[in-house]
Amino acid sequence: MGASHDFDLICIGSGPAGQRAAVQAAKLRKRVAIVERGLDVGGVCVHTGTIPSKTFREAVLSVTGHRNGAAYISSQEGGIGSDERPTAERLLSRVDAIVKTEAACSRTSFAATMSKLLPARRP
Ligand SMILES: Cc1cc2nc3c(=O)[nH]c(=O)nc-3n(C[C@H](O)[C@H](O)[C@H](O)COP(=O)(O)OP(=O)(O)OC[C@H]3O[C@@H](n4cnc5c(N)ncnc54)[C@H](O)[C@@H]3O)c2cc1C
Repeated sequence: MGASHDFDLICIGSGPAGQRAAVQAAKLRKRVAIVERGLDVGGVCVHTGTIPSKTFREAVLSVTGHRNGAAYISSQEGGIGSDERPTAERLLSRVDAIVKTEAACSRTSFAATMSKLLPARRP
């Protein structure tokens, strides 16, 4: 009965599903809100699942040189020596850098939809 709504669509969660929904709705000129309970947008994909796991794998292959079939990449070339192992700190810093980049991409994507990002109220 004449109720007004601020949004046409509210997405619960800012992972890939919420992001795609927001983009599609924005293309239809709908007003979108995204509710996210995490500290940043991107969901499991960006923060704990797809991106971190694949980046970790890639970091191991890159740093050790196994990606190119070489036994190792010398430290002068940005890799490690043949008798060294990549440290967890080095691998994790690479993962952290990529996750930050991907999170920034997600924020840009949401901003492009002109959607409003709302923090979820914590119990
Ligand atoms: C280790 C790992 C590796 C993976 N590798 C791949 C891969 O290589 N390829 C691939 O295709 N898939 C991969 N996946 C799966 C992929 O991450 C998921 O399919 C994808 O993230 C699902 O997207 P989603 O948007 O549905 O949910 P999610 O990414 O889980 O996002 C849900 C979001 O909703 C928020 N949320 C949940 N409930 C609420 C609430 N009540 N209120 C507010 N916010 C809420 C969460 O905080 C989260 O940000 C992997 C998953 C894991 C765990």
